[in-house]
Amino acid sequence: MHNITLITGDGIGPEVAEAARKCVDATGVQVDWDVQPAGLEVHEKSGDPLPNSVFDSIRKNRTALKAPTTTPLGSGYRSVNVRLRHELDLYVNMRPARTLPGTSGVEGVDLVVFRENSEGAYTGVEFSRGEEETRDFIGYVSEHKGFKFKDDSAFSIKSISYSGSKRIIERAFEYAVKSGRHKVTSSTKSNVMKATDGLFLKVAGEIARRYEIEHEHILADALCMLLVMKPREFDVLVMPNLYGDIVSEIAAGLTGGIGLAPGANIGDEYAVFEAIHGSAPDIAGRGIANPTALILSACLMLDHLGEHKAASDLRKAVEDVIEEGRHVTPDLKPKSKTTTDQMANAIIERI
Ligand code: NAD
Repeated sequence: MHNITLITGDGIGPEVAEAARKCVDATGVQVDWDVQPAGLEVHEKSGDPLPNSVFDSIRKNRTALKAPTTTPLGSGYRSVNVRLRHELDLYVNMRPARTLPGTSGVEGVDLVVFRENSEGAYTGVEFSRGEEETRDFIGYVSEHKGFKFKDDSAFSIKSISYSGSKRIIERAFEYAVKSGRHKVTSSTKSNVMKATDGLFLKVAGEIARRYEIEHEHILADALCMLLVMKPREFDVLVMPNLYGDIVSEIAAGLTGGIGLAPGANIGDEYAVFEAIHGSAPDIAGRGIANPTALILSACLMLDHLGEHKAASDLRKAVEDVIEEGRHVTPDLKPKSKTTTDQMANAIIERI
């Protein structure tokens, strides 16, 4: 029996969470789900989108499946995801992108992005325009670095550490070796951000020397172009937070769209599995969200728990349903009337 926290999220979250839960149960793996709401509605009711009870549950169960949660743009509360990743030290964000037959993806793409998940440009340490501490910061930089920022500037602090880079790069190389991959590509903008990205690149070089696997470094802007032009040439990729976020969405686009792209946030103690996509407010409540990304995230979770047969049965069922194309949501087949629930049921029938 596995104890798993199910974070139902908001927007399309509850719809895809229920679909994924049903599919995991259908594999026959015994799960005691601890259902924990989080997100916009929880914030409206309690003033906190991520109550302590969610952390308590994850700390107890060590594993969670999380549906998306809304982050208000530009202002409002801090991202639920960023808080979870920081507080549980989920420093690996692993995002596989593989083209499934029957989708619009570029045939033969099969890569995995390892995105550093705990630092980089997403520290959450920010200085807003016009505040006193921002003026102090501008004064400090002017005095110590001789650089004069505009008075109406705002700042988000980017930090990259040696230890933070080492652990994510090691996990990427370990994964590449274990899963029989042939190449690791690291990516930064070390030509411009020499202190931070330069450090990440230096660590990548040090670690690469310990493994008998090809390593290359490509600047992040060039990588975006090469991914679009020659996506089949990439295998395992590792990069700082912001680049990983963007590059993994390019990879998702190449492999058939955001409704199909799974992800995992993994630390040394806890793991939270979630789709790449957000709460999709534009389609929330209509029952047409594609549940595949969260179901494939649940497959990563089953593998993580050692339930490899269940993971591969579920993955195969998803692939069969998508390839057959009769019971897929409208993002995959524009005039389709198939609902989230019907697609989940078709997958369950295949299992
Ligand atoms: P989004 O991923 O929610 O939506 C982008 C587009 O993709 C929309 O057109 C949407 O309808 C479509 N889409 C997304 N998931 C889909 C699915 N399963 N099936 C079919 N279509 C799908 O991105 P956004 O609109 O930029 O963000 C909406 C909210 O989600 C924001 O508040 C954002 O901060 C949040 N967000 C949360 C997470 C998370 O919880 N992990 C991740 C990304 C964004």
